[in-house]
Amino acid sequence: MNLILLGAPGAGKGTQATKIADRYGIVHISTGDIFRANIKNGTEIGKLAKSYIDKGELVPDEVTCDIVKDRLTWADCTRGYLLDGFPRNLFQAQELDRFAEIDGVVNINIDHKLLLDRLCGRRVCRECGESYHVSTLGGKTVCARCGGELYQRADDNPETVASRLAVYNEQTAPLIDYYEKRGILLNVTGTEAPAEVLFEDVKAALDKLLA
Ligand code: ADP
Ligand code: ZN
Repeated sequence: MNLILLGAPGAGKGTQATKIADRYGIVHISTGDIFRANIKNGTEIGKLAKSYIDKGELVPDEVTCDIVKDRLTWADCTRGYLLDGFPRNLFQAQELDRFAEIDGVVNINIDHKLLLDRLCGRRVCRECGESYHVSTLGGKTVCARCGGELYQRADDNPETVASRLAVYNEQTAPLIDYYEKRGILLNVTGTEAPAEVLFEDVKAALDKLLA
């Protein structure tokens, strides 16, 4: 089962992606995580990516597509994968069609009024990637799941968030239509409720797809 996870920044893609990968035994591939790992390790790709990520812009398509194309050749992809954060525009979607076969696209719909606060208050675990909101942490600085250190992503500030949301609306949102027309779009509605609640809907949609 090869899947794509679509949704605006802050819709909760990362959390749902972990749950989907666990439950269906497929590998979670996040282009954002790949870029952040490259930045941490000071690679050439990392240096290039950082200049775009800091501004809330997309990393150039050629670089991004090459990374994904290569990643999909790894042995762990043979049982299926979940792409989180890719594709992000029509060009990437068309490229993906040349080297992959996608069975389903989970699209998290969410009220955009919720996103700014979610992103600016987000804290992420350095070890396992779990995310939290400051308002629920009560001053805690470590991950409840693994004890890792929590940090704020450099791009989770109001200016960068505004351009990420604009990029989403202009470039990524049209993909909803692209996959809808193909008949593989699965819509779920994100809410303020805990991630477990949304995951119930995701599971129902994916179980139906598998049946
Ligand atoms: P979010 O969905 O919260 O914005 P991601 O971790 O998916 O976060 O992405 C962070 C940043 O990494 C993006 O703002 C963009 O600059 C870059 N990026 C991630 N995926 C892609 C992609 N498919 N194409 C171009 N840039 C990307
Ligand atoms: Zn953790």
